[in-house]
Formats: sequence, C-alpha cells, structure tokens
Amino acid sequence: MEMCEIEIQSAQEGPTLLILAGVHGDEYEPILAAIELSAILKDKLKKGTVVILPVVNKSAYYAGTRCGTDGLDLARSCPGNSSGSSTLQDAANVSKLILECDYLIDLHTGGQLFDLFPLAGYMLHPNKTVLAEQRKMAKAFGLPLVWGTDALPEGRTLSIARDANIPAIYVEYAGPGPVKVNVVNSYIHGCLNVLALFDMLEDYRSEVNDIQYTVEDHEPDSGFLQQKMLSPADGIFVPKVFPGEIVKKGQLWGLIYALPIIETHQVYADADGLVLFIRSQPRVNKEESLGGILSV
Ligand SMILES: [Zn+2]
Repeated sequence: MEMCEIEIQSAQEGPTLLILAGVHGDEYEPILAAIELSAILKDKLKKGTVVILPVVNKSAYYAGTRCGTDGLDLARSCPGNSSGSSTLQDAANVSKLILECDYLIDLHTGGQLFDLFPLAGYMLHPNKTVLAEQRKMAKAFGLPLVWGTDALPEGRTLSIARDANIPAIYVEYAGPGPVKVNVVNSYIHGCLNVLALFDMLEDYRSEVNDIQYTVEDHEPDSGFLQQKMLSPADGIFVPKVFPGEIVKKGQLWGLIYALPIIETHQVYADADGLVLFIRSQPRVNKEESLGGILSV
C-alpha cells in the first residue's frame, strides 16, 4: 500500500481539505474509509483539492499498535521533529500538511482498548469564525454526537490546526474487534457530506444526518478520554453497559474479577448521562479507565 499522501485535484479552484487516518496504528476503519474515498473522489470532486493521508503513523500501523515502535503517541507528538524518532518524523510530516490545508478531518476509532459512541468533535476555538466553521463541519459529518471541548490540548493534529486558525474536526466510532463496514461507510459519507458543505462535489445529495446530542463543554480536559471511571483493582473487567446507553449515577457499570484469589469488585456509574465509551480490553490494571460518561 502506498503510505504517502494521495492528492485529488479538480479542474476548478477551491479549498483544500485534508483527511487523516492512521494517526493511531490500530484503528482500521479510518484507513479503509480514506482509501475508498480516494477512489470515489477521482470522478466526484468538482472544486478544490482533497489530500488524503491514509496512514499517518507508519511504524504504529506496521506494529498493529496505537503508538509507534518508538513508544510515542502521534496524537501527543505534533508538531514533531523531522530528524527525531519515527513518530516524531511522521508528526512533522503531517503537521506540515495541516499548515497547507484549509480544512482538516482526522478519522479515529477507540482502537483495541475502547468501544466508542459515534461522535464528531472539535475544540472550542477562541476565534468565532473558526468555531462556527467547525460546528458546521461536525454537524454535516452526521454522527449521533456533536461534541465541542476545551481548546487547550497540545500535541494533537487539531492543536496544529487550532494555532493556524484552520477549521478542524475529529471523529470517533466503535473500535475493537473485526472491521465494521458500517463504520467505514459512515466515515465515507461523513467526509462526502463535509465536502458537499463546501460545494466541492459533483452530483452529491447529502446523507440524512442522525444527530441525537449536541454538547459543548468548556471544562479543561473535557475531551480527554483516558481519565474517567478508574478501575479499583487489577483484574478482568466485565462490562454491564454499552456505548449509547443512558445511565444513572450509581448504576452497575461492570465487575472486576481480581486474581489470584477471586475477589469481585462492583463498579458503579459515577454520573448521570450517556455511556460515551467503555473499556473493551478485559485485562485491566488498577487506576486504568473503564469508560466514560457524558452529561447530555
Ligand atoms: Zn485514535
């Protein structure tokens, strides 16, 4: 597979949209959607340019892991360093591409660790024009949750876009297990919907959107997924809720079976709200995240 960027240029001048996949090497639906999109857009792009980077962190993809073989998470490594380790080089490459685009979409899933409720997210950008564009893109993408969170995070692809006032969104959907064709298709349609929003497509009727929740949360770290519902013990996690379920505080979230002497810990929902994500890897260490709840 070609690991470099794919550029689809139309005859008419217009904006450049950058689509990223494989920032995390164990998130496969985004990579497949990106490759399929590059084929679809060859005869569908009417205006502007689409640049697609199907595998941003190459060593992470080859290892089948979230992080690169240097141990680094690309989504914490931007703007990178072109003479650094592999992830830092890939981060430098993608950061350069971001600065050359007008709009950015970064496709993710929960990887092998988390199962996520489908969402299109953005940073609550201090610039009102950029924020308004991001809200429109996230809404157009058409996933059930539209989610704005604080603009403080560093090291993300979205941080590079933020600092350059480039409207940017990221999307998340499911994660573990075999490839889910419905996720691939949602991502293809979502990207086409955003392109249609900018009038960049020939003969395209936007897919019906299925937005159920729109949430904006200005709390610092509101978008940071790995810090919620911590495991009380080392053991095996058995979930009792699923993504998208509405839970009440105190409801049973799951059980931890601690070995070698089996001791069962019950874990309860720590708030009312929507099950945004749940841990899907059974083996868990104390203090690792078992999932997260979003107040809706
Ligand atoms: Zn990811």
